[in-house]
Amino acid sequence: MNRFEALGISENVVKAITELGFENPTPIQEQAIPVILKQSKDLVALAQTGTGKTAAFGLPLTQLVDFTKRNVQALILCPTRELCLQITKDIKSYTKYIPNANVTAIYGGASIDGQARDIRKGSQIVVATPGRMVDMIDRRLVDIKLVQWAVLDEADEMLNMGFQEDLNSILSHTPKEKNVWLFSATMPSEVSRIAKKYMENPHEITVGNRNQGAANIEHVYYVVHARDRYNTLKRVLDFNPNVYGIVFCRTRAETQEVSDSLIRDGYSADSLHGDLSQAQRDFVMKRFRAKTIQMLVATDVAARGIDVDDITHVINYNLPDEIESYTHRSGRTARAGKSGQSIVILNMKEFSKIRMLERIIGKKFTESKVPTGFDVCEKQLFHLVKKIHDTEINEKGIEQYLPKIMEELKDMSKEELIKRFVSDEFSRFLDYYKNAPDLNTGSEMKKERNVNTKRMFVNLGQLDGLDNTQLKQFINSYSQISPGPVVAADVRHTYSFIEVEAALYDQLVAKMVGAEHNGRPVKMELSARAQRESSSGSSYGGGGYKRSSGDREGGGERSSGRGWSSGGNSGGEGKSRYGSGSRGGSYKGGSGSSGRSSSRSYRDKK
Ligand code: AMP
Repeated sequence: MNRFEALGISENVVKAITELGFENPTPIQEQAIPVILKQSKDLVALAQTGTGKTAAFGLPLTQLVDFTKRNVQALILCPTRELCLQITKDIKSYTKYIPNANVTAIYGGASIDGQARDIRKGSQIVVATPGRMVDMIDRRLVDIKLVQWAVLDEADEMLNMGFQEDLNSILSHTPKEKNVWLFSATMPSEVSRIAKKYMENPHEITVGNRNQGAANIEHVYYVVHARDRYNTLKRVLDFNPNVYGIVFCRTRAETQEVSDSLIRDGYSADSLHGDLSQAQRDFVMKRFRAKTIQMLVATDVAARGIDVDDITHVINYNLPDEIESYTHRSGRTARAGKSGQSIVILNMKEFSKIRMLERIIGKKFTESKVPTGFDVCEKQLFHLVKKIHDTEINEKGIEQYLPKIMEELKDMSKEELIKRFVSDEFSRFLDYYKNAPDLNTGSEMKKERNVNTKRMFVNLGQLDGLDNTQLKQFINSYSQISPGPVVAADVRHTYSFIEVEAALYDQLVAKMVGAEHNGRPVKMELSARAQRESSSGSSYGGGGYKRSSGDREGGGERSSGRGWSSGGNSGGEGKSRYGSGSRGGSYKGGSGSSGRSSSRSYRDKK
């Protein structure tokens, strides 16, 4: 027997959900369905979106509601229009094979008469946002006197949004003898109060820990100067070429500002906030769902109920005022068994909030380094190379042009061709990041740095199997200087920076001549920053770092010596753009610029 049938779900519903790809119940379904169906109890379920909670209440409703009748028997209340439409769609799909099943969505921003007409046709299940529901009740367009099941979905969100009074008013129009099922991602005291007020000895289910975020979300923070917030965001986006995410801001104005800046800088982004009309919000959401835009910049309220699978990153541009809202934000990623990253951009003053968040989510954050210009370039370059590697050849389309192209390029070797292609596609990016500063603050390196140390670049990195401690130990023991001249190391992917006691610097440089690590010559030189700070310019490694075969270029901070590219643009964030709308190789051909113009012109018309 199918596992859903064993839980009490009828064959025609099992058939419908099998078509949706539901093979086995999720943990919350496994726990909720029997309690609801067999014990007919009130229920409090602590669960995030993405756990299958809609089916946890939707499937039992398909069994309990009498679809031969034409009155409203079940009322589902949820915080946003988005979620309302999603739940309606889901329940409609579960009841696909049940004759006469009618599910109606009631939400603001659409014709109230149309919704009233739908209900009059004989809705047995109504899914509603509280504000519109109160309107409908006041205008006697809906009768909920015979409701036997009331579901409060995302109860914490409804309270956060100030719907407490509306909920009281709506529930006061329902019979006393009914079952209430409350679903919430977190359990603040307001939600507990609701549970006490409207339920009798409810059965409690917790999926994961109370108030805890989903297990497959990685929580990461970057500490930067407040002025570097936007540049950090750009670095993060550039470092993740396939990002599909939500950037959360605190206010509408900030949301618009960040979104405008991203669009101006050529990113595929748009904003979602309360100053937009419903039609504008729908338009943005449609494009986001279709992945025409990669980044949605949103306020908490506007983003509530966004129910999009596949979100890879949630970025907290600024933390929410209500710190508990972090769980909701981060819960937009890692849905339906996938994994995702929730990133917090902080300044030094806000650091204590991380500990608060850790207590709320019951998980540790990872401190991460803002990718350097070098990190970004390396990532983008390999993204580009992989894209080319995986590109399907359009034989038919290019057939007629090929002979001429081959003729044009016939004198070029494969190696030369690759070099030229990569340079052409990539030089804008390289130009942009050539002199990009290190945006990190508060890192171990920063703490260790003082006027008595010198910062050096080393051509060894994680690829050499080294971490901070190992690199420090390697150089200190190789130099045989006591005490060890290296006081801190900051190991990156292919290179590192070290802080060296200034008094021991010359001695160290002399001792490291000819040094090797696993057969690779070790090259060290004063970092570009250090060179700028002191005009001494002394370096080690043969008058500038030269790439030899098997060697790796290093140092986004390195500005002297070999340049990244042929361009004359001096880079530096905030100063330059990537160029005319499209960004060097990172995003799908021009989706950023085309998306931008269409959304702008749409908004301008409004
Ligand atoms: P929800 O938490 O209700 O927003 O559901 C998250 C996603 O999981 C939705 O895309 C559902 O269609 C999907 N889902 C829910 N239950 C199951 C199940 N038992 N098997 C497979 N997918 C499911």
